[in-house]
Amino acid sequence: MSTDTYAGFDLGGTNLKFGLVDDKGALLVKDSVPTPPTVAEAMKLIGTLWDRLNKEAKHPVKAAGLGFPGIFSLKDRKIFQSPNLPELDNFDLTAALSKEIDVPFWVDNDANLAAYGEWKCGAGRGVQSMVHLTVGTGIGAGLILAGDLWPGACGFAGEIGHITVNPEGDRCKCGSQGCLETEAAAPKIVRNYMDLSRTKKPLAAEEVFQKALKGNTAARKSFAIAGQYLGIALGVVINLLNPEKILLGGGVMTTGDFLLKAAVDEAQRRAYKASFDCCSIERAGLGNDAGVIGAALWGKEQLSKKRGKS
Ligand SMILES: [Zn+2]
Repeated sequence: MSTDTYAGFDLGGTNLKFGLVDDKGALLVKDSVPTPPTVAEAMKLIGTLWDRLNKEAKHPVKAAGLGFPGIFSLKDRKIFQSPNLPELDNFDLTAALSKEIDVPFWVDNDANLAAYGEWKCGAGRGVQSMVHLTVGTGIGAGLILAGDLWPGACGFAGEIGHITVNPEGDRCKCGSQGCLETEAAAPKIVRNYMDLSRTKKPLAAEEVFQKALKGNTAARKSFAIAGQYLGIALGVVINLLNPEKILLGGGVMTTGDFLLKAAVDEAQRRAYKASFDCCSIERAGLGNDAGVIGAALWGKEQLSKKRGKS
């Protein structure tokens, strides 16, 4: 029986999730704390949590993985652009983290690591090709192609949230407009509802969902419009990659079928039939834990590659 454990950290705009897994990816410890207001404080907090995980671990923690939001350069080991946490732009993560973590660790884009987690021990287990999308306040995605995480030439692959689905759509933080993220994530669902119902009072996406459940037409339509844009993107993904699976996770995907059904219908309408029929569109399996599990297993995998080389 193996006694090794691995640590995973998943930094989001709202929460920093962290935990320990065994070598099969089973969570041994998990917790979440609010994301500190500055990156310097986040680094310090990761150091404190790292010490805590080591105390809680029954066996030595061999490696760690950390997922951060933004465009992560494999070459420079830096986040180049993080629209939701701008303070991370060009921040020297590896140097800062090496002061806090005293085992080998690896950093990558959070959506890539969530996809890796779903592939290794979630709903994507055993497939050779899949796309994992997280639909929440933003939209992130990671690609598994030919049986491995696909980083792209420089580490920037999988930014499905920033492909154009509506050329005349809203301005996006990335600099473009009408991105999937501006048209189909939670803030747009809320705005759709406020426009359709002519209400000026802000509300949460969850409240729009509750209204949709009670049969509110404007609320249902708000999800359907966002779902249609998501479906346009899924159609592109299916035609481009012919993946075995598309997994959909994130807070918005817990809101029943109002969005999912519209997305699947639209993808079917737009993709080649043969490729659509070949692809299974499913909900992701690990929920909020995908990022932490994926990060920890990524640390494990990179450590074994490193040992293989030396
Ligand atoms: Zn964008």
